Amino acid sequence: AALIAKDVIALAREAKVTMIDLKFMDFVGIWQHFSIPVSELSEEIFEEGLGFDGSSIRGWAAIHASDMLVIPDVTTAVLDPFMKHPTLSLICNIFDPITKEAYSRDPRNIAMKAERYLQGTGIADTAYFGPEPEFFIFDEIRYDHGPNHAFYKLDSVEGQWNTGRDEPGGNLGYKPRYKEGYFPVAPTDSQQDIRTEMCLVMEQVGIRVERQHHEVATAGQAEIDIRFNSLVKSADQLQWFKYIVKNVSHRHGKTATFMPKPLVGDNGSGMHTHMSLWKQGKPLFAGDGYAGMSELALWYIGGILKHGPALAAFCNPTTNSYKRLVPGFEAPINLAYSARNRSAAVRIPMYSPSPKSKRMEFRSPDPAANGYLAFAAMLMAGLDGIENRIDPGEALDKDIYGLSPEELRDIPKMPGSLDEALEALRRDHEFLLKGDVFTEDVIRIWIDSKMDKEVTPSRMRPSPMEFALYF
Ligand code: GLU
Ligand code: MG
Ligand code: MG
Repeated sequence: AALIAKDVIALAREAKVTMIDLKFMDFVGIWQHFSIPVSELSEEIFEEGLGFDGSSIRGWAAIHASDMLVIPDVTTAVLDPFMKHPTLSLICNIFDPITKEAYSRDPRNIAMKAERYLQGTGIADTAYFGPEPEFFIFDEIRYDHGPNHAFYKLDSVEGQWNTGRDEPGGNLGYKPRYKEGYFPVAPTDSQQDIRTEMCLVMEQVGIRVERQHHEVATAGQAEIDIRFNSLVKSADQLQWFKYIVKNVSHRHGKTATFMPKPLVGDNGSGMHTHMSLWKQGKPLFAGDGYAGMSELALWYIGGILKHGPALAAFCNPTTNSYKRLVPGFEAPINLAYSARNRSAAVRIPMYSPSPKSKRMEFRSPDPAANGYLAFAAMLMAGLDGIENRIDPGEALDKDIYGLSPEELRDIPKMPGSLDEALEALRRDHEFLLKGDVFTEDVIRIWIDSKMDKEVTPSRMRPSPMEFALYF
């Protein structure tokens, strides 16, 4: 049963909590927070909310009144595992203080609207999301964040950060070569304990962990798989996941990054996302079509593939994301589906033992994505596929290396850069506007802010590769 405000207050007393921490998602995808002493905690806060100045948060409120309101979601109460003084954490929704309406640029609000849209269609009542975020744990990098300096602290033009055992004098004996990290035991795997600690903290905050392992890239790439959940809950969990991974790493003097492609020549970090639709407790994706999928599931895939380039603007939202989406590193580039071929953007896992576990896996997203926006966009694309009965075409089961250049050219591809993805979103976003889930304003501010703050500044700066070529 959902906790109600009274229970939260009782829980805070019982745990001798000193601070209540209010966390909310900014527009780009980083948790922001402020805290109030426990003496300020009251039932009214869950009704009336608390004011804060939203004008310094990127993408928010510059044009609107700068005062905004957060209203904590009682069902998200949990003790923050990283604070010295007992601290109760609550995830909040953002509201306009004057109209008292949910803020249209609050990513969590967009995700909640996507769930309501789904229910309104009558197609299904629940969409499950199971993201598999990969990440790197590096020795702590202390570098000047100034945009003019960061590049020159890389220790070679190849863009190779030190992964600890690259350090002069470090033990190189057990360091896995590039792409050989999956997954010999210790001492080659030097991060079992740190991953275990991450898993234990995740369990403390109520996340169900399914497995953890070293990933393919050389020393330092990790994967922790957590159990699927409904859309908003899964996006909430993804925020906890990133918070825990970063804070446990920090505790060990390490830096964790969800940057999609930190090392050239080695695997990047993806966030494959498993999805399925359910109605009244019944799974809707199992059937007798291709790879045991239902017709509805195939239309859903049709929608994901059709809108794939536009989805990339939310699922691969950084300039770095497109350095991962290249051939040869298990990241997909082909907008196609297959039960086998991992170069296809959509894979249907074949080991599903029962209809309940029948699902599709979208492999192109990466962990730089804002979970609320990315999951909402994926759901809207899939639903558009179902509503318009979009046929996903033939499965791409042939070995991709056996295809002729002509055949290869005919397969639609993921965008090659963030500007291409933003341009695709500019052309193709009607499917996101249904039910007012995304608004024209959200689409415009996303594109403009990504162009102004990321694409253009990157384009204006010389890169290590340019020094290698032209200096
Ligand atoms: N790291 C790969 C990627 O970039 C995925 C590896 C895997 O199959 O788990 O998507
Ligand atoms: Mg993986
Ligand atoms: Mg996977």
